[in-house]
Amino acid sequence: MRLADRLGIEHISTGDILRTAVKDKTPLGKKAHEFINSGNLVPDDIMIGIVQERLTEKDCAAGFILDGFPRTIPQAEMLDDIVLLDSVIFFDVSEEECVRRLTTRKICSKCGLIYNPATHPPLREGKCDKCGGDITSRADDLPETVRERLKVYTKSTEPLVKFYKKDGRLLPIDAGVKPDEVFENLVLLVKRQDPATCLRIEDSSVGE
Ligand SMILES: [Zn+2]
Repeated sequence: MRLADRLGIEHISTGDILRTAVKDKTPLGKKAHEFINSGNLVPDDIMIGIVQERLTEKDCAAGFILDGFPRTIPQAEMLDDIVLLDSVIFFDVSEEECVRRLTTRKICSKCGLIYNPATHPPLREGKCDKCGGDITSRADDLPETVRERLKVYTKSTEPLVKFYKKDGRLLPIDAGVKPDEVFENLVLLVKRQDPATCLRIEDSSVGE
């Protein structure tokens, strides 16, 4: 989000566009809704269709950041048939640091803004700076749940590092430092590439 603002390009979150497609009852949104309703994951071919529809909208012509997709090799291969991403940003952070950050973070129950007591505390204890909502922990952020998510990541998403490294599209960045420092290094890195397109595959390391 911050990077898209700085570069003046669109930030495409796959979670957001999926919710929008379902809400607007587009043909693909309706199909996706059936899977979500029955408690299943949205299949890759439907998800890629939703991504494709969004990326061909006018506001993406000048470039975009794709956030949260692809998460698996099959998704990455399908995406390559639609659009060749210029760069893929890999937020490199140790598993321990990842668990530490995710289990200590807090979230505004009203607007979803993320806080971290150590690196980004709210100005008023327990209240959101932006909307005044209550700040709570997420059930998803319990240590067991986080470990489980990291297992899924290692199995399904981590192979993408090799996949994008192979043809030189991977931009690794040390995410083990403070978030503001990560961000400034990221801006420098991306500007050197002169990209129209990029993507992050590890979204849990930099709490924005
Ligand atoms: Zn809030």
